[in-house]
Amino acid sequence: MSNGIIEKIFELAEGKKNLRFMEVCGTHTVSIFRAGIRQILPKNIELVSGPGCPVCVTDDSYIDKAIEYAKKSEIIIATFGDMLKVPGSRSNLAEISAEGADVRIIYSPMDCLKIAAENPDKKIIFLAVGFETTAPTAAAAILSAKNSGLKNLFFLSAQKLVPPALKMLLNDSAVKVDGFLLPGHVAVVTGTKIFDFLANDYKIPSVVSGFEAEEILLAILNLLKQIDEKKFFVANEYKSVVKSEGNIAAQKILYEVYEKVDADWRGLGKIKNSGLKVRKNFSEFDIENILPVEVEKITKKTPCRCGEVLRGIIQPLECPLFGKSCQPLHAVGPCMVSVEGVCAAWYKYGAETFSF
Ligand code: SF4
Repeated sequence: MSNGIIEKIFELAEGKKNLRFMEVCGTHTVSIFRAGIRQILPKNIELVSGPGCPVCVTDDSYIDKAIEYAKKSEIIIATFGDMLKVPGSRSNLAEISAEGADVRIIYSPMDCLKIAAENPDKKIIFLAVGFETTAPTAAAAILSAKNSGLKNLFFLSAQKLVPPALKMLLNDSAVKVDGFLLPGHVAVVTGTKIFDFLANDYKIPSVVSGFEAEEILLAILNLLKQIDEKKFFVANEYKSVVKSEGNIAAQKILYEVYEKVDADWRGLGKIKNSGLKVRKNFSEFDIENILPVEVEKITKKTPCRCGEVLRGIIQPLECPLFGKSCQPLHAVGPCMVSVEGVCAAWYKYGAETFSF
């Protein structure tokens, strides 16, 4: 079946200007590489990556703050593993851990409840980083902690919302995007309706896509059809799990616990109403409320070009550090740290097909 889809993609792409489609999900970035999709597309279709890796868009000031907390002897930091090497402005969590800080890797926010119960004399801080996909689970962990009367579990939130970031990209004249492959996992929670502004306000096509090669190709074909017919809407090519209204129960838990706030995105700056903060009703779980720390912001000039990579302005290969001083084992920027980071994906999968 893929052959038929590829033929149709070539038919519809013929004679069109160069088109840039942006995927906004680290899992899509990796799937596109694994399936070799870039190589089989017509030359006038370029795929670029957007701010779809939560670790990559976590601001260095957040890492600095997490490190300040980690230095305190009464604190245990609980985090997903790919956060360890994300650079702050001075250091990273892996280095602080090597110096003796108690930093533990967990696989779900719910793991923090067990750590908190087993360490009643410590304060456990979960580094809540992620998009709409994972934020409801963090919210559910807060509700569980409240229900079970846990008094030593806290959250440091840098959770973010995808739609405001897309709006910001489309308002940025340096960003050239002709269509979006929307993140399937995020859309399971948010639904498709929330992305209607792409067609209504910006006349740009978009498709919620699954992660198999054929699903991604179908999504690209759908974008081409919309451009061909000049009829723009949010198509859903992931109907088995994504509904127009999303997962209402997950949204309810999410907004029971969190409210929207302006948030700093690494490489993108501050974006209005794009972050999630624990509501006042649950402020006993917000570590910034219980034990505020002051971290002096260091603005360093860095040669890392993650900001342009995350806005799809350049491909990772155009960063002069790529594959040289910046590699997964000694990453200079956050896009090289997470397995879903765009630079890490290019490094791992692009090496065989692109020379650097
Ligand atoms: S290759 Fe490294 S330094 Fe360059 S943009 Fe990517 S993460 Fe930043």
